[in-house]
Amino acid sequence: MSRNQFEFTDNIMYLKGVGPKRAKMLEKLNIFTMYDFLTHYPRAYEDRRYITPINELEIDQTAVVVGRLSRLTVRTTSRGMTIINGILVDNTGYIPITWFNQDYLKDKLEDGLVLAVVGKVKLDGWSGRPVISQINTFTILDYGEKPMLGILPIYASTGSLNQNFFRAAMDNLLYIMPDLPEILPDVVLKELNLPSLDSAMRAVHFPKSNEQLHAARRRLAFDELFLIQCGLMLIKKQTQDERLGISCKKNGKLLKDVMSKLPFELTGDQKKVFKVVAKDMESKVPMRRLIQGDVGSGKTVVALLALVKAVENGFQGAFMAPTEILASQHYEKFVKQLEEFGIRVGLLSAKVTRLKKSREKIYQQIADHEIDIVIGTHAILQEGVQFKNLGLVVTDEQHRFGVAQRSELEKKSEKVPDMLVMTATPIPRTMTLTVYGDLDVSLIKQMPPGRKPIETYARKISDRKKVYTFVLNEIKSGRQAFVVCPLIERSESEKMNHIDPATEMYDMLSNGIFKKIPCGLLHGKMKSKEKDEIMEKFRAGEIKLLVSTTVVEVGVDIPNASVMVVENAERFGLAQLHQLRGRVGRGSDKSYCILISDSDKGNAQERLDIMETTTDGFKLAEKDLQLRGPGQFFGEAQHGLPDLKIADVFRDYEILIAARDAAEKYITDENDLSYYANLRKNLAIAYGDKFNAVLNA
Ligand code: ADP
Ligand code: MG
Repeated sequence: MSRNQFEFTDNIMYLKGVGPKRAKMLEKLNIFTMYDFLTHYPRAYEDRRYITPINELEIDQTAVVVGRLSRLTVRTTSRGMTIINGILVDNTGYIPITWFNQDYLKDKLEDGLVLAVVGKVKLDGWSGRPVISQINTFTILDYGEKPMLGILPIYASTGSLNQNFFRAAMDNLLYIMPDLPEILPDVVLKELNLPSLDSAMRAVHFPKSNEQLHAARRRLAFDELFLIQCGLMLIKKQTQDERLGISCKKNGKLLKDVMSKLPFELTGDQKKVFKVVAKDMESKVPMRRLIQGDVGSGKTVVALLALVKAVENGFQGAFMAPTEILASQHYEKFVKQLEEFGIRVGLLSAKVTRLKKSREKIYQQIADHEIDIVIGTHAILQEGVQFKNLGLVVTDEQHRFGVAQRSELEKKSEKVPDMLVMTATPIPRTMTLTVYGDLDVSLIKQMPPGRKPIETYARKISDRKKVYTFVLNEIKSGRQAFVVCPLIERSESEKMNHIDPATEMYDMLSNGIFKKIPCGLLHGKMKSKEKDEIMEKFRAGEIKLLVSTTVVEVGVDIPNASVMVVENAERFGLAQLHQLRGRVGRGSDKSYCILISDSDKGNAQERLDIMETTTDGFKLAEKDLQLRGPGQFFGEAQHGLPDLKIADVFRDYEILIAARDAAEKYITDENDLSYYANLRKNLAIAYGDKFNAVLNA
């Protein structure tokens, strides 16, 4: 293949040195085309720039040695293994060198040849002296072979494909690859002092210096983040421009009445955030706002006020919660607070929609605007749900809904409704910028007054008796407690594991130390009716001890609960533990979170220590991201963004900010935005003829 026949969309098997068999193996790495291979960026590098004189070699060092081969001997062991021995000599000394089981080298090697060897220096067990016995590569300089020296890439590999294969194939690819056209605007390149795409792409594989490598990485990471930012800006612009949003009037009587009847005074942060929200709603530009607030910071009431504002202006509102339990909890609270003002609140949950009759009824009521505020789960997203006059959508615990679902909701009405997103998962700024870059962000940092900080303790399984005696005493003095377990029941594969599932814990506790106490069991496999009943009893204080899986994870509000025990705490992420901890400490009683774990795997104990000392949800989330990576952090959430191949939102935070700023500053034309947003997806094609066509159009 020559340079002018080259296409990035070509199958990788046509690359010199690859072929069909290796191409098949590369599929495991998601490499199918030339472009895929090109963007299979090195995961690390090894510095092979310097030839080490033999007398300076150190044990365990992997070094480049150049020397003349002599005293070559070949022998075969009784088991048929070929061992080739020799010594390498340079003008500082000599070192023995051994090739194991490489029969074919017999005819290639001979005394007197000058070799460049990359190998590991080991201490020989017999002689007690250094030898080169692990040879990565070697080249015979006398035969005109060029040693691969320099800063060498190390690629993620699979099967029998070794680094030599990747390096040689990449070298071939870069050789036949035509110069890459520049994709970034000139002004961006200049301002940020970025190298050209072509030089960055070549240098990232075979850098000549650390500085060059650094610049190349920075450039390619910038590309990824910049294209994402353009995409997010496009989403934002389109919802703002294409269809007009609605605009509300200034706060009126209804809102003031509801406010005056709230059971508490709003905190300063709540007031501030609601003011911003009200202003957003009064503007014609559709609101796209994310409210971040730690668990228990009181986001719900801000949502309630916003929904009342929508209703006051003749619109309907929707409030989407991630679970049935939460939806019905919000529903009850809303009914209690809004009924007297004639605001009609409806609940749309799976339970309601399962029966055809009740489903059709509520759909009709929503379509006819007989319901002002619809509270529900994903059920709100269902096709049959059409609002007459949707003005505001609130989604709670947003990290469970993806960008795609967000836009799904927008289609439920002719005009673009305002959108308020609330999350208790403190999403670090780096993440907000990549995942929620299309949203404006408000923070509720202040906690409602009178809260006592929750004390957290990490304990061992052997402390259980003490722990549960403590829990019993809390219950006896009138409070309630949660026990959360990672699993529902023991599966076959978990039989041997030291994990106590919820059902077993429930049996153990309710028949043991809590025999005289009303206990309840709650898990995801139970029918939702059963779940509701148990939850209701717990809320009413009839059940004192609730053993459950993480179904109580988010938002559940039981002010009388003062203890949260988490069994097998190592099984949960920090952010998740923090969420669980947030289930208590919602009243004025002193509250406790006890994390039980015997695990010393990985960083289990380190993580539990962090929980003991840190109550700041944002700090915990940052730590969690560092310890577990973004994929884990978001669980299965479909955040709808392309994977990053080279950028890392933590390490490359400054690049991320630069990319966001550049997208805002320079790319304001919608056509350009969509062009850049799509560029990555179409890059393979874009690099080819089509790219030029677009550029010249
Ligand atoms: P979250 O932000 O976790 O969703 P909630 O909205 O559920 O928090 O509020 C947690 C608890 O604090 C609720 O019981 C709520 O009634 C109460 N609360 C909210 N705001 C205030 C306030 N300003 N003063 C006192 N209690 C408040
Ligand atoms: Mg909440």
